[in-house]
Amino acid sequence: MSELELNIKSLKGVGEKRAKLFEKLGIVTVYDLLRHYPRGYEDFSKPAPISSCVIGEPCCIFALVISPVRPSLIRKGLTLYKLRVADNTSGCDITFFNNKYIPELLIEGREYLFFGRMGGSIFKREMLSPEFEKDVTNIGLHPIYSTTEGLPSRIIASAVLQAFEHCNDITEVLPDTIRAKYELCYSDYAIKKIHQPKTTQELEIARRRLVFDELLTLQLGMQLIKSRDRAETSALCTSAPDFEPFYSALPFTPTGAQIRAIMQAAKDMSSAIPMSRLIEGDVGSGKTVVAAALCYYAAQNGLQSALMAPTEILAQQHYRTLTELLLKCGLNVGLLTGSQVDSEKQRIRNMFLSGEIDVAIGTHALVQEGVQFKKLGLVITDEQHRFGVQQRARLAEKGKSPHVLIMSATPIPRTLALMIYGDLDISVLDEIPAGRLTVNTYYVDSSKRARIYNFIKQHIDKGFQAFIVCPLVEGSESGLAAAEDYAAKIAGENFAKYRVGLMHGRLKATQKEQIMKAFIARELDLLVCTTVIEVGVDIPNAVIMVVENAERFGLSQLHQLRGRVGRGNAQSYCILISDTTSEETTKRFKIMCETSDGFKIAEKDLQLRGPGDFFGHRQHGLPELHIADIINDMTALKETRIAANEIIEGDPKLESPENAGLRAEVYAMFSKEDVIFN
Ligand code: ADP
Ligand code: MG
Repeated sequence: MSELELNIKSLKGVGEKRAKLFEKLGIVTVYDLLRHYPRGYEDFSKPAPISSCVIGEPCCIFALVISPVRPSLIRKGLTLYKLRVADNTSGCDITFFNNKYIPELLIEGREYLFFGRMGGSIFKREMLSPEFEKDVTNIGLHPIYSTTEGLPSRIIASAVLQAFEHCNDITEVLPDTIRAKYELCYSDYAIKKIHQPKTTQELEIARRRLVFDELLTLQLGMQLIKSRDRAETSALCTSAPDFEPFYSALPFTPTGAQIRAIMQAAKDMSSAIPMSRLIEGDVGSGKTVVAAALCYYAAQNGLQSALMAPTEILAQQHYRTLTELLLKCGLNVGLLTGSQVDSEKQRIRNMFLSGEIDVAIGTHALVQEGVQFKKLGLVITDEQHRFGVQQRARLAEKGKSPHVLIMSATPIPRTLALMIYGDLDISVLDEIPAGRLTVNTYYVDSSKRARIYNFIKQHIDKGFQAFIVCPLVEGSESGLAAAEDYAAKIAGENFAKYRVGLMHGRLKATQKEQIMKAFIARELDLLVCTTVIEVGVDIPNAVIMVVENAERFGLSQLHQLRGRVGRGNAQSYCILISDTTSEETTKRFKIMCETSDGFKIAEKDLQLRGPGDFFGHRQHGLPELHIADIINDMTALKETRIAANEIIEGDPKLESPENAGLRAEVYAMFSKEDVIFN
């Protein structure tokens, strides 16, 4: 057994209790600990004179302890430990809370480095719970770890130092040729230096190597999935694409962008290599029609299609839309969702298997065991960011290398999309259907609420419908509009004469379906809802979208919400209600009021929130990354893409001994995703 597999309890200073705390951070073995990279660094290499420290700023000082540590019990459970330090420019008070070890750690008459925010005033400087370091020979960059209560960064750092003893066991995963070619340091060096860099240069060298490993592993995994997907020849569409019958049955003329995307995909489908195409289009650009056209083309060639949606609401909506578009062309559409009763599921599954159903629509239920098709030729996933790699892979397994089409409204810049999705081909729907008016967007505070209600009523009286989105289901958090209470209140008061519905994530699927159907049938005038409504819902008669507590939503989310209206030909409105005083938030609202272009909004969102948040919640459906950042590490992304291609070219299944280490890394990264390679 490698020493890296040892439990961290084998480290000095880590007992039962601490091991539990480490476990909260996901750290069980020595290896886990070494892979718990710092989230940042404090620069201990350049202490500043105390007199020049700016109040309120983080700073590093090198100072002499000039008093003993004085504990004082403030109340039960709160003891302060105070001491005074000084350098040759000035002095400073230092306070720690409830840390009984401080008197042992900070000795009067000795010098230490302290790092923290300088508080107090220039007459009485003060630092609260600074990090400190006694070993001045070892100064450099000091790691800051993500912590959990009871386990401060300092303790983690010292455990990591102990774990370094086992670094000899770290195996070099990169083949030497690659390591040399890209001028990368060794793995054990990288791991040591990512934790304890003396200089920023060392840190950069270490980080570069670790980022390279992570992105290379990611790309190799994607390549393996792809080569698996593309190994067999696909079910071929042999007939020349003829979409006229489909187009003429449409209630509108398709846009140029729709036709382009359809033709690009149709061309892929008539080639022996299975299609892997991404359709990117802003909300309302009409991705569903593209999907329907391709199902039609598959059916013309005797092939079944499957369309997978992230939520029941969306699956049901697609079922309705595709039935309407395709029944006229003689196709049978079937729906399979988790909430159906077993006998119904069985009936539908039988029809998939017998081939009676040409187009299968569903949620995750479509990828579950027991679902089989007669001849599945095309797999489409809608709003792809909600699906992980693994689900796509599993659905693809249902057919004999079916063609795969992914539809996404997450406007990822093209270069980035290319990187993330490997060699997916991309079609962009950059044209909004004719006759659409821009949604007028306003930002108001809650004092205008009554006026907004009147505005909604005027529109309902003309036969239109409206949404009001609230952040939460029940009134748990004070001050936040909670959908349930909110709906009850306005249904009783302002909208007593109108039909108000309530929709949220905790309702049963059948209830959601009923409400959605009622809203579509115009049996409801106003729908109060949480963000379950966010993705893809298409109700052209709804013209007003009010967002309560709009400060709670990010830009891309607001844009998605706004995309629920403005889908017909009537003028639509989006009204953001918020009492925020935050400049940041107001900036978001301003952007919303000024632009309606999803790609521009995504760009701003990236700038404002940073890639971490933008791609947070695993929106891209990729395995979790620990150190690499797919936006800022673009150069590494490009390098590793080339390296991955080279490696796969020489060893398509990563079977050579030289690549054993990489293969293990790939399996470790993707095993959590449950991807089967072969
Ligand atoms: P999204 O790209 O957001 O998924 P949908 O496919 O739901 O958009 O389409 C949005 C709305 O636009 C639907 O009501 C659809 O019927 C309509 N639509 C789609 N294409 C066209 C078109 N070419 N002309 C007019 N309306 C269209
Ligand atoms: Mg859609």
